[in-house]
Parts: sequence; structure tokens; C-alpha cells
Amino acid sequence: MAPNGSIGSDFMYIGNYSTETRTVGCQQLRLLVPDPLSSNLSVSKTRIVDTLAESSRRLNSSPARDVVRMYAIEGNLSTDSDRQLEGFATENGNFLATASYPFYQPDNIWIHEYIHTRQRFAPIAGAQWTTEGTATYLAARLSLEQGLTSPREYDAFLARTTLLSNSTSLNQVDDRSRYAYLWGAAALSTMEYELSASNTSVGDAVEFMNSQRTVSQTELDRWTDERTRDNYSLDSVVFAQQQPTPRYLLGPSWLSPQDRHLIPYLQKPLVRLASLAFSLLFLHSLVISYTPYSITGSISSLKD
Ligand SMILES: [Zn+2]
Repeated sequence: MAPNGSIGSDFMYIGNYSTETRTVGCQQLRLLVPDPLSSNLSVSKTRIVDTLAESSRRLNSSPARDVVRMYAIEGNLSTDSDRQLEGFATENGNFLATASYPFYQPDNIWIHEYIHTRQRFAPIAGAQWTTEGTATYLAARLSLEQGLTSPREYDAFLARTTLLSNSTSLNQVDDRSRYAYLWGAAALSTMEYELSASNTSVGDAVEFMNSQRTVSQTELDRWTDERTRDNYSLDSVVFAQQQPTPRYLLGPSWLSPQDRHLIPYLQKPLVRLASLAFSLLFLHSLVISYTPYSITGSISSLKD
């Protein structure tokens, strides 16, 4: 019997598989899931392609390709033993994503890799952070807008900037550095807020970069300066040699990143149940310890 399989422009899969397809405007999204991985998918194929179709509609930049082929995989893609790589997008606009990667969170791997297929710019001269920075930030934003994550989880995600030490600045990092992902997303969350003054967005910045053959930090800074308030400078954030301040959605500005990191955990049903049980036990111990004293007091007063 001839083996079943699929050959695309970047990837080939041999074996049985299932697919799910959506058409958005003039672009077709094709998801291929190998049969051995179908039970590993964190959500259904329908959920994945519907989410990407909606993400596509919400992105400002125009689709560059007629077809985006997406493949579910399992296992680390990185050749570096110290690093886990859950997804990978090619220059032809196809990508791999880890089937079991949690879907309902700001760090949605399917949206992240899809955004890479919409990037057509080549960052140079200090702007290398923008490739992963824009993919990470926009994935979090699109996850939030589509209800895949809560505002508290979004804030906790931005608070991860504090996990990295102040040993570099964004203009110095290479495109795959963790700084590009975490500090880049934090810097863009504030830039998005400042851009709202001119009714523009980070998505518009990506479209601007797409319109250039190459883009340097100086060009991006000039574009941003023309669209933000006078007291804001992207350049000073990128060259600051310290963690960018994220723009959070909830809570007072003085709330520490560590607290923001912890808050989503306090909302977990198990933690809520445990705290309720602890409170009941505490109340119970109060009642038990109070009653005997009360009775003794009453009896002693009677004797007197
Ligand atoms: Zn990426």
C-alpha cells in the first residue's frame, strides 16, 4: 500500500493525518495534524483555525501569501539543549507549532507563529528585537481581545520582564534573545498606549516596517516620534540599559511585578478552595476556643 503523506513548500509529512482549512479574504489557512498527535492537541483543530482566522482579520498588515500551511508537531525544535523552542515559522510563510502547548494564555504559540507569517520586514541596526517583540506582544494582545486570556494573566505575562537582569538594552540584543521577547513585548505595550494619541497602533508600526525593505531603530523611532506625545521616546526605552516599564491593564501602578505575577494563581479554583477551607477552619477554631471561656466566666460569676 502506498504511504499517505503531504508535501508543502517547506515541510513534508509521511503518514496519516487530518486537516482543517479556513479562507480569510484572499488567504487560505491550512492546518495539518498527524494522526499520532491528534490526541495531543490542546484544543480542537476547528478552534485553532477559527482563532487564526479572527486574528488575521484583526491584524492591520495585509497578508503576504495566498496559503499559510500550519503543522502540529511535538518535541523541542531547538538544537540548543538549554533552550525549548515550541514553534518555528519559515520565510515562505508556513509554520510548525507544538500540539500540546497550552492554548488559553497570552503566550499562544499558534497566533505567535501566524504573526511571523505577516512580517515582511528585515530589521537592522539595533531593531533586531522587533521581530520577536512584535510577535510576542501582538499574540498576547490578540489572545486578550479574543477572550483566550484574562487581563490579569496578560498583566502577569508583561510582568515577566523582571525575570531578566539589567545587563543589556534592547538595541543590543539579537533577534532570538529572551530580551527580544519579554522586554520587547513590555516596551511595545507602552508604545501602543502612547500611539493611541494619534489613533495608531503597534499593528500600524508592523505595517510601516513591512513597507520598508529594511528597517533600523532610527527609522522606527522617527515613525513613532511623529505619532506619540512629546514626552515619549521609543529610542530612550530601547537604549535605556534597564527593564522597560510595561503598560498594565489593571491595578494600581505601584503594584510590584512580583505581585502581578502571583495574582492569576490566586484565582485558580484549587487555591480558592484551599483559602476558603483555611478561613472556615480558622473561624471554627475561634468558636471552639471562645465557648469554654464564656461558660466558665458565666459559672464563676454565678458563684460570686
Ligand atoms: Zn517567534
